[in-house]
Amino acid sequence: MTFSEFNLHDDLLAGVDAMNYLKATPIQEMAIPKILDGRDLIASAQTGTGKTAAYLIPLLDKISHADHDHTSTLILVPTRELAKQIDEQVEGFGYFVQANSIAIYGGGKGDDWDKQRKALETGADIIIATPGRLIAHMQLGYVKFDKIDYLVLDEADKMLDMGFSDDILNIVDKIPAKRQTLLFSATMPNKIREFAKRILTEPEEIRLAVSKPAAGIDQQFYLAYDNQKLPLLAHLIKNSEKPVQSMVLFTSKKSEVNGIVRALSKLGYEARGISSDLEQDDREVVLRDFKNKAFPILVATDVLSRGIDIDNLTHVVNYDTPRDAEDYVHRIGRTARAATTGTAITFISDQEQNRIVNIEKLIEREIDKRSITEELGMGKSPVFDPKRFGRRKDGGRGDNRGGRDGRRPNDQRSSGTGTGEARPDRSGKGRRDRRDKPVPQPTGEGVAVTADSVEPALPLANANGQPSDKPKRRKKRRRGPRGEKRENGQEQRQSPAPAAE
Ligand code: AMP
Repeated sequence: MTFSEFNLHDDLLAGVDAMNYLKATPIQEMAIPKILDGRDLIASAQTGTGKTAAYLIPLLDKISHADHDHTSTLILVPTRELAKQIDEQVEGFGYFVQANSIAIYGGGKGDDWDKQRKALETGADIIIATPGRLIAHMQLGYVKFDKIDYLVLDEADKMLDMGFSDDILNIVDKIPAKRQTLLFSATMPNKIREFAKRILTEPEEIRLAVSKPAAGIDQQFYLAYDNQKLPLLAHLIKNSEKPVQSMVLFTSKKSEVNGIVRALSKLGYEARGISSDLEQDDREVVLRDFKNKAFPILVATDVLSRGIDIDNLTHVVNYDTPRDAEDYVHRIGRTARAATTGTAITFISDQEQNRIVNIEKLIEREIDKRSITEELGMGKSPVFDPKRFGRRKDGGRGDNRGGRDGRRPNDQRSSGTGTGEARPDRSGKGRRDRRDKPVPQPTGEGVAVTADSVEPALPLANANGQPSDKPKRRKKRRRGPRGEKRENGQEQRQSPAPAAE
């Protein structure tokens, strides 16, 4: 389906054209008409499927037909990186449409706060914000949300995981009840459905089938206690059929990143780690160097797992079994591109075994769980017996409380979310702290690595959503206050990325 079939504003079509979007992706095909119709929408769609344009295009169409004297659209996102990407996409489409945006995200260094405050005071058609930072601005009284027509919650599952639900409800309380609300989420566990009931009205629902792993991916699963994982990893790397040229290793525990990096370095593999412990600028350098193949192994926390494009990997390692089966599929999809082959290694500890059951359901085949630690002299591996852990339909948290029989007697560490940075803020406590301190946990992630982003089978515009063949300053000149708003928007984009939301 082409975009001209949606009956969009001519200016917007020109923007879509400039972005080199020729055909709508499935999520766009399904969502755009519903949003144009004014319906509330709950959609499961991952990064990489074109979901940003699926809501931006119809909203920009509405904006281009309306008066531009107020902020009409609020987009809430979990991370600064996503906020920046969406802002850039609005700029891409906005070459021709009279609409502008500003990105508000947290933990700023230097004068970011003031720039954001000024931008908010001036206003823009679209505000894209991380919840904690936005609330902090709202409390000072200059944010005008009395005319919001459209609210988007992007990556809602991640926002809830990061403990933002109270902040979101707080923000929703302060915008008009009469509005159109769109909720996008990579996964759709019950907690998202319950949450959605509180803020959406009779929503339409779209569920995109998660694509199955490509046939070229060699999926290997190994049973291993936590303390067997490092030596097992070393063995697998040394004996890999294919040389490890570019590997991303995901761990759910931030505290383990440095240890894994050190162990790999001892083995002679250049590895670098990325977690919320790094300043944003340093994270960006690590990612850039990895993409440029300056070093072969990137060790990353799960939380950094959405939002950026890294593909063409020879290996993906799930040091801990991913919590969501969909995440598993997306991560390993980063290997075996375009008729090549790739290797995906997943460790199954004694604690997370029902996640494997969910993965099996999703990929529709039984997984061969290898047990090789004993023959390698590392001791017995855990037994695969997921029934011990109780089944959760959503494959979510809570599956790692194996109890006594689920844990090795001498293993004192708790695994899963115990020390990880993805711990949800169930108590609601500490929300204030998060806003007050610039680099809080667990929300300090953004980004970033993403093995989790689905690689769309599309002729993509570049990753930032910029037209790949950007027209030469064809943009209409903005006059008066609108021109100032645009300046502010650009300031946001040019400012150095702050520390963390
Ligand atoms: P998203 O899922 O929104 O993060 O989009 C992933 C990538 O796909 C981004 O780089 C978009 O610019 C690109 N993209 C989205 N929709 C289309 C389309 N219809 N045609 C070409 N590229 C697209």
